[in-house]
Amino acid sequence: MKTMTCEQMGGPCGYKISANTPKEMMEEGMEHLKESHPDISRKMETMSAEENKDWNDSFLRTWEITPNIM
Ligand SMILES: [Zn+2]
Repeated sequence: MKTMTCEQMGGPCGYKISANTPKEMMEEGMEHLKESHPDISRKMETMSAEENKDWNDSFLRTWEITPNIM
């Protein structure tokens, strides 16, 4: 189980999200964005393929360096 903050995923707040896989983390993060930051959620939905890839790469890097907490 890893915990990342909204901020680490490109959001503006310190809301903590926990997940077992990067996919789950991404889904939880998107869910939080939709609920709490709909403007950012909309912006992310209109990202270009290149922006999307950049976001994904940096997300996975952050995921890798985040310690696993049982
Ligand atoms: Zn947030």
